[in-house]
Amino acid sequence: MREELQMYVNGEYRDPGSDEWFPSVNPYTGEEVVKVGRGTADIVNEAVSAAHKAVFEDHWGGLTPTERGQYLLDLADELESRAKKHAELEVRENGKPISGVLNQHRSIPDWFRYYAGLADKVQGDTIEPSQEGMHVYTKPAPVGVVAAITPWNSPLMLATWKLAPALAAGNAVVLKPDEHTSASTIAFAEAVDEVGFPNGVVNVVTGLGEEVGSQLVSHDRVDKVSFTGGTNTGSYVAKQAAEALTPSMMELGGKSPHLVFPDADLDSAIEDALWGIFGASGQSCSAGSRLLLHEDIVDEFVPRLIEHARDIQMGDPLDPSTEMGPLASKEQVERVRRYVKTGNEEGATLVYGGETTSEGQSNLFFEPTIFTDVDNGSRLAQEEIFGPVLAIIKFSSEEEAVKLSNDVDFGLAAGLWTENIRRAHRMADQIRAGRIWINHYKNSDYTAPQGGFKSSGWGRENGIEGLKEFLATKTVWLATDRNEEGGNR
Ligand code: NDP
Repeated sequence: MREELQMYVNGEYRDPGSDEWFPSVNPYTGEEVVKVGRGTADIVNEAVSAAHKAVFEDHWGGLTPTERGQYLLDLADELESRAKKHAELEVRENGKPISGVLNQHRSIPDWFRYYAGLADKVQGDTIEPSQEGMHVYTKPAPVGVVAAITPWNSPLMLATWKLAPALAAGNAVVLKPDEHTSASTIAFAEAVDEVGFPNGVVNVVTGLGEEVGSQLVSHDRVDKVSFTGGTNTGSYVAKQAAEALTPSMMELGGKSPHLVFPDADLDSAIEDALWGIFGASGQSCSAGSRLLLHEDIVDEFVPRLIEHARDIQMGDPLDPSTEMGPLASKEQVERVRRYVKTGNEEGATLVYGGETTSEGQSNLFFEPTIFTDVDNGSRLAQEEIFGPVLAIIKFSSEEEAVKLSNDVDFGLAAGLWTENIRRAHRMADQIRAGRIWINHYKNSDYTAPQGGFKSSGWGRENGIEGLKEFLATKTVWLATDRNEEGGNR
């Protein structure tokens, strides 16, 4: 890969147009990884125009849905052979441990295969209208140009959740990765190029969110905005899209409750509670950052959790044995430090961690941190920290557990542990979250939809619902029985 990352627009590699490049930095070594082009409004315009032409004039090269699916299958094969390279690029830019990142990248081809299989299964309905002499049917059509915006924590996986269904449905995409982690997305464009997708179907522009991101989501030829990122940015982006009357889907932040009842398999619950928050150092939208423990098990659960937290291996994120890498940036470290201070000021009890630490050349590590006696109304319990900080809250009844779970602005995910099947379903009915895991935490795949309630966003990614997000229904009315005087019989 060139040190300077070119963009990919209309099937060509392009310089940014601004002559400005900025570095992305390895959070473990502090070294520059690549230089990223600072895109301009002109390049956004070109990318959107190319995408518009690909969908509305070239109809994706006049392909049948089956042929379109074949492109996705070829892309899946190409990505499979590049999984290790893409994983390493991401680890160099965001510092997440390679073991988890590599698993993600090995599963990305499955998303493209799943949606390749759906490409030629898009169907409409025939409708019996109330009027006679009419044949009425619906025809799902691609929405058009999709603007896809992704965050830094899992750039290519989150882009895949948007691109695979959008392309299968016949749309073209302009993708903007986070400025700190653009390398794997540009490498993805190389795979697209290798497969030989028609020009303009996939475009990648890089640069700053408030510049290229903003220009992209407010562009009048964008037909759908698909955004993953923080809730504040999401709110701003949704407003920009709304001003252009462009529909959007929002995958935003979370403060997910993870509940454990006394009848649970505690060994498994402790393991998943640990990785539910400390996996990726808490830099995950679905982190189980609020652990709700029944009062009868707190005294046993917390010391055992701390014991496991002590054993977490921190270190070089490219070492397969590393379990927690550095946080992604100095700003992230400062943010986590501020929340630890807030937790102390709010009267929560810090029972483990709470400090920055250094490993190798990096001082961006933060200890796994556990607070008990957390008030659910406190900032520690209400705000997304996006770091390795666990807030433990006690409950004494099912009713209280439901109330605490829902008493937060977010609704992205929830986990619950109980051997009582009736209670499990009762809780799943009452908790307002897009994904609810019973007796495990954090599974997801291409078959099952996911998304948010409340401030965690709207719209669904993955599964058949994920495909429907990128289709719009046309209704066709055909007069079958029109008499010579005009009008229907
Ligand atoms: P941000 O919201 O800061 O950024 C997300 C993306 O939006 C980046 O590409 C950013 O670009 C871009 N952006 C920023 N401003 C604008 C703008 N005005 N117009 C258009 N685009 C803009 O999120 P983070 O990168 O910090 O990611 C962490 C957040 O993402 C967390 O809140 C996390 O919960 C959420 N997330 C949600 C997931 C879900 O599925 N629900 C999954 C993963 C993460 P740039 O940074 O280059 O300026």
